[in-house]
Amino acid sequence: MIDDARPGALPGSDVRLRTLFEASPDPMFLKDGEGRWLEVNAAAVDLFELQGIDYRGKTDLELAELQPAYRDALVYCRNSDEAAWGKGATSRGEEAIPRSDGCLRLFDVIKVPLFAPDGRRQGLVVLGREITERRKAEQERDRLLAAEQAARAETERHFAEAQRAVQLREEFIGVAAHELRTPLTTLQIVVQGLLRAARPGPGWPPALVRQAQLAELQVRRLTRLVEDVLEISRIRSGRFEPRLEPLDLAEVVGTALAALQKTADDAGCRVDFASEPVRGNWDRIAVERIAANLVGNAVKYGRGRPIEVAVRADGDAALLTVRDHGIGIAPADLARIFEMFERAVSAREYGGLGLGLYIVRRLAEAHGGSVSAESRPGEGATFTVSLPVRR
Ligand code: ADP
Repeated sequence: MIDDARPGALPGSDVRLRTLFEASPDPMFLKDGEGRWLEVNAAAVDLFELQGIDYRGKTDLELAELQPAYRDALVYCRNSDEAAWGKGATSRGEEAIPRSDGCLRLFDVIKVPLFAPDGRRQGLVVLGREITERRKAEQERDRLLAAEQAARAETERHFAEAQRAVQLREEFIGVAAHELRTPLTTLQIVVQGLLRAARPGPGWPPALVRQAQLAELQVRRLTRLVEDVLEISRIRSGRFEPRLEPLDLAEVVGTALAALQKTADDAGCRVDFASEPVRGNWDRIAVERIAANLVGNAVKYGRGRPIEVAVRADGDAALLTVRDHGIGIAPADLARIFEMFERAVSAREYGGLGLGLYIVRRLAEAHGGSVSAESRPGEGATFTVSLPVRR
């Protein structure tokens, strides 16, 4: 292999080949048919720390005696050589060679058995490439990948748990609001009956009448809160689908206003309603709620001043406008108040959950419509809902 005796070989090719052979960082061995070492390069000598030992013409087992620190490794190599001979063709596999300090070096080894034409074993070429670092890097990569996968699985688990918790909470809120509504309806009927019967005079001292009025007011507030929570739970669970029917927006808003008349009266707000019939397909309950929430807010934040409500057609849309002259809204809060739980007043001054406008927006959007607000602090606010007439 090294002595190139082929006719026509370039002069000096032996030197070049030997240089290549010696300079290779991969250990290379040429053994004869009995496993005796014929030629090995510096990397191979280094592998078994055979510097200073005359290895030429010796077998692995003989060298094992001369280099006890590598006995096991050399015996292993001899056995693996035998396996390569047995296979009778080029073989490739990994071999672990322990260093004298105990560390393992890992090699990707190719063995090429050479046979004479009569089938006798003639020689064995052994090429090794160290893959210790590569294997370490692969193991590190696998470790990092596994860690990343575990972290991802953990995140996904947390996310699923959080989603489940949110879902449970929303289901609970929905059920709780629903359950609250039934006794509240009864309570409302009873309190309204009480209020009708309560006339100042004998048996109904003024203080009792006031308490009955207060009870009625609080029941109304509570009902509105429970209705809001129920609506939110319907919207959030994706269960809300508008039940469209032909309606006159002016008529539906009128109904909502009638229901709010008492609340407006209690707050000292006059409500002016300017309307023209505007027909379209909408969900009656949803539109009533939109109007009730906007007018309810106008009363609540309106400082007892008049409120103007208007319904009119505007091209392909029906517009509902609710205008008050109350506390107004700062420009920075105008967009945010349509989000869930967003409020622009202190809970101490004005009670509320911050759900009303979110519900208005979601119900308007469910109809393909929108809501917007214009306001200046201290000068009141105007809310406009636009609902498409055709859908
Ligand atoms: P809530 O009234 O329960 O707080 P809403 O979602 O109905 O919830 O309103 C959100 C916030 O928008 C209110 O807290 C208030 O700051 C502001 N807001 C709503 N309507 C008006 C209005 N007509 N005038 C002034 N501020 C308003």
